[in-house]
Amino acid sequence: MTVTNQSQQTQAGAPDTQVTNETGSSLFPTYARYPLSLIKGKGSYLWDDKGNKYLDFVSGLAVTNLGHAPDKIVNKVKEQLDELWHVSNLFTIPGQEQAAKLLTANTCADAVFFCNSGAEANEAAIKLARRYQQKVLGKGKFEIITFKQSFHGRTLATLTATGQDKVKEGFLPLPEGFVHVPLHDIPALEAAITPHTAAIMLELILAEGGIHVVDPEFLRKVKALCEEHGLLLIMDEVQTGMGRTGKLFAHQHYDVEPDIFTSAKGIGSGFPVGAMLGKGYLRDAFTPGSHATTFGGTPLAMAAVNATIETIIEEELPKRAQQMGDYLIESLRKELEGISFVTEVRGRGLIVGIACKGPVGDIITAGQNRGFLFVNAGPEVIRFLPNLYVTTEEIDTAVALIKTLIEEHVAANA
Ligand SMILES: *Cc1c(COP(=O)(O)O)cnc(C)c1O
Repeated sequence: MTVTNQSQQTQAGAPDTQVTNETGSSLFPTYARYPLSLIKGKGSYLWDDKGNKYLDFVSGLAVTNLGHAPDKIVNKVKEQLDELWHVSNLFTIPGQEQAAKLLTANTCADAVFFCNSGAEANEAAIKLARRYQQKVLGKGKFEIITFKQSFHGRTLATLTATGQDKVKEGFLPLPEGFVHVPLHDIPALEAAITPHTAAIMLELILAEGGIHVVDPEFLRKVKALCEEHGLLLIMDEVQTGMGRTGKLFAHQHYDVEPDIFTSAKGIGSGFPVGAMLGKGYLRDAFTPGSHATTFGGTPLAMAAVNATIETIIEEELPKRAQQMGDYLIESLRKELEGISFVTEVRGRGLIVGIACKGPVGDIITAGQNRGFLFVNAGPEVIRFLPNLYVTTEEIDTAVALIKTLIEEHVAANA
């Protein structure tokens, strides 16, 4: 029997009664979903089930960095589909070796672990940091310092690492060993370091936290504290990686290298993949059996990853992201100047925030009705994440639309 009633009381072990919500969905209501069913995508555009076309400045939240259904990646994945999808990591997987070589050749990392999501990559980073401190250095260090407003994932460890209380409600007890300090506050960071501290972990742009770019001088001081106290520096590049900010990874804008960094969203062009990358001295902290995942680095996933990274490097897409990002930010600053509802346009490359004086939810919905998709970063920041092939014409369209949408929002709320 199906009963559509949200307030239906059920007990553990009660008879077999299905309860769905008002929309008739049988999914857990973990998302406040927009009433849009997107069924086809190509390049910068998406189509819904009614045939409406949308300019997409969400990109699956920084996932489809090469646009929707990019031919090069689609072809490689199709070829691999006919060869071999999956083998156990008990066997050598050539595509995985190749992807690791590509990543280590183009970054400061020397070793890679492949998994399936951003949270899982961060979980691996946390485990590697603890294990290095405990097994290799023989110190009892376990604590990770992270930053307020940060976002690191939804597993128990990564939601504890996340510097936002709302993701933790109702999930007690949380794992031990995480403390949070405000970003750009060196005295608070120094005060948080104890003999138990194993690592400092941060995003180079607080993305979910409102598009705040980390200051280079702050990062230098963080690195100096790590060296002074024997801490590892972990950078969460799940959203900032894969060319989006104007470099393959955002830390390459800085003169500070991480000991460990993570990647996920853009690395497989939409195929679910995560990666945890580390320096050579950390390699032997993991030994056979100390960490694993069934679906990490399968031949099918690696076909997507190799094609994605090769394309980004061969076509110099980070450079393109930088140029298009500069153009987007400049255009937004110019066109939105004088609208007092907008307080700041900020970001780097093609991760851009428009900070506003009030909630932006209505503006997002109005955009959907005009065929323009974008999201927020916190309640009062509009976030633009176009793909790396975005054109100046598409940017001009987006800037003109957002100006109109904001002006209409201001007029409607006057
Ligand atoms: C999205 C995100 C994560 C979590 O990635 P999932 O694939 O959703 O687990 C972690 N860190 C940052 C910075 C992210 O943007």
